[in-house]
Amino acid sequence: MPHYPSHVNLPRDCALFLDIDGTLLDFAAAPGLAVPPPELPGLLRQLAGRMGSALALISGRMLADIERLFGPGIAVAAEHGACLRDASGRILTEAVPDPALRPIAAILHAAVAARPGALLEEKRFGLTLHWRGAPAWGAELAALAAELAAPHPGLVLLPAHAALEIRTGGNDKASALEAFLRIAPFAGRLPVFVGDDVTDEPAIARANALGGAGLHTNRDFGGPAALRAWLAELAEGREDG
Ligand SMILES: [Mg+2]
Repeated sequence: MPHYPSHVNLPRDCALFLDIDGTLLDFAAAPGLAVPPPELPGLLRQLAGRMGSALALISGRMLADIERLFGPGIAVAAEHGACLRDASGRILTEAVPDPALRPIAAILHAAVAARPGALLEEKRFGLTLHWRGAPAWGAELAALAAELAAPHPGLVLLPAHAALEIRTGGNDKASALEAFLRIAPFAGRLPVFVGDDVTDEPAIARANALGGAGLHTNRDFGGPAALRAWLAELAEGREDG
């Protein structure tokens, strides 16, 4: 049985915000290898339909990547809120990428090439260093990234699960959640956010502070598979019975 907090009353009066990796999707060896179960995109669209479209994905992934995985029809905050897109495909807000990112990426590409198992994900508004496949390199790569980012006040570093995000500052998952809550169809609803990682903590705290629910994928549900089972129940309306 999926374990979830019974006080969460979905879907009528809530807006639902979901992280992707480690929340909707199980962790893969590399982010490029994570694939949704075939029924998941349709299930999310069905659930969004039941919730007046007040459902959004909030992820560190690039917009193009999220669109490739989940298709159209669901609102998205990509790259920790640097880019917001509504369910119709319209871009709502977009940050300006920090110019220091590309030169730093060139140095980090060389660094990961010399460290088997580590990889650099180059995004529009940031970079993610991954060492899930090579934990021994973690401390060294994180120190290098910190050194490279230090002279650039526009960049922020955020530790993640066996990874480090180097991002254009000014947004996080909490600001993304609030940006959605200012506009239809999210405005006036109580936010329910589900995430699994350090980068999700601000949004978990903000959802709680706003009177909604900030939930942890593993602590509150027991993992992505149980969360997906809960979402399937909601999408099919089984909570009515
Ligand atoms: Mg996550």
